[in-house]
Amino acid sequence: QFQKVGFIGLGNMGSRMANNLIKAGYDVVVHDVNCDVVKSFSEKGILTKNSPFEVAEASDVVITMLPSSSIVMDVYTGPKGFLKGGTELRPCLFIDSSTIDPQTSRKLSAAISKCTLKEEKGGFRSPAMLDAPVSGGVISAENGSLTFMVGGSEEAYTYAKPLFLSMGKNIIHCGGPGNGSAAKICNNLAMAVSMVGVSEALALGQSLGIEACTLTKIFNSSSARCWSSDTYNPVPGVMDGVPASRNYDGGFATKLMAKDLNLAAASAKELSTKSPMTFLTQEIFTELCNEGHGNKDFSCVFRHYFSGKNE
Ligand code: NAD
Repeated sequence: QFQKVGFIGLGNMGSRMANNLIKAGYDVVVHDVNCDVVKSFSEKGILTKNSPFEVAEASDVVITMLPSSSIVMDVYTGPKGFLKGGTELRPCLFIDSSTIDPQTSRKLSAAISKCTLKEEKGGFRSPAMLDAPVSGGVISAENGSLTFMVGGSEEAYTYAKPLFLSMGKNIIHCGGPGNGSAAKICNNLAMAVSMVGVSEALALGQSLGIEACTLTKIFNSSSARCWSSDTYNPVPGVMDGVPASRNYDGGFATKLMAKDLNLAAASAKELSTKSPMTFLTQEIFTELCNEGHGNKDFSCVFRHYFSGKNE
């Protein structure tokens, strides 16, 4: 269906997603500011380019997987960005899978939809954009089982589905532009709050003399049961195979959770929504990063309840 797929941002997630596109038979062209990672792709015979603009010039669909809103903005509208050469574009579809704020996704989608196509393609009259952040982490990126939360037109979503399916398993259309980004930050906000809630309750239980194993059994057969208690328990020794049982290594880094909470908090502030838990969890995870735990799994928040205490 697609002739050429451009991929920008070959980090922990992007390199694995690009590899799955290559495995699925897509003709991929890549770019990253990190020369070493670009080299590893060119050594495999993959076409590489020096800027986002050059990738767009050589692609029918472009995917970005970048660290932050400001970098995504730069890759689209900066001096070497997609729009550098004017508003007549080759790609008919731009997909941003980075976790960024919905407001930026909406601005970019509006900018792209005002452009024109060099050649009519895929039934599109003007280029389209989808915000399509993912859930699942590095392991799901590696084995192609990511969940994509997609915002944008139904038509663009349908067109892009085969691409998503070569990198992921669950592809969910969340509505118009920005709704994928909104879904992602809301999911992670709920996950952070539930992890903090479970940790706080298990810590209190421990102080009251109930073993975390026993209390977890109660939670998991009662109304406190949730992913943070029955799948990703934060207390060392309660479950096998989770970050808590290996000194909180691997998993989902606290600094990435703090980043997602900053995005949720920024949206809550901008919209003046009543969001006390958003600001509280943002503060807790920022503190963990400041204390040097940014690279540990976010379930290390359990330890936070004992910091400063002699255990
Ligand atoms: P990463 O830092 O490993 O990779 C980002 C890549 O982008 C790097 O290779 C970097 O060199 C490149 N880059 C930075 N600026 C660039 C620019 N101007 N032009 C081109 N390339 C540039 O990050 P990651 O863990 O792969 O995460 C990527 C995105 O996915 C983030 O938005 C993150 O929040 C989100 N995410 C990550 C995970 C995870 O578990 N790692 C899970 C879900 C979502």
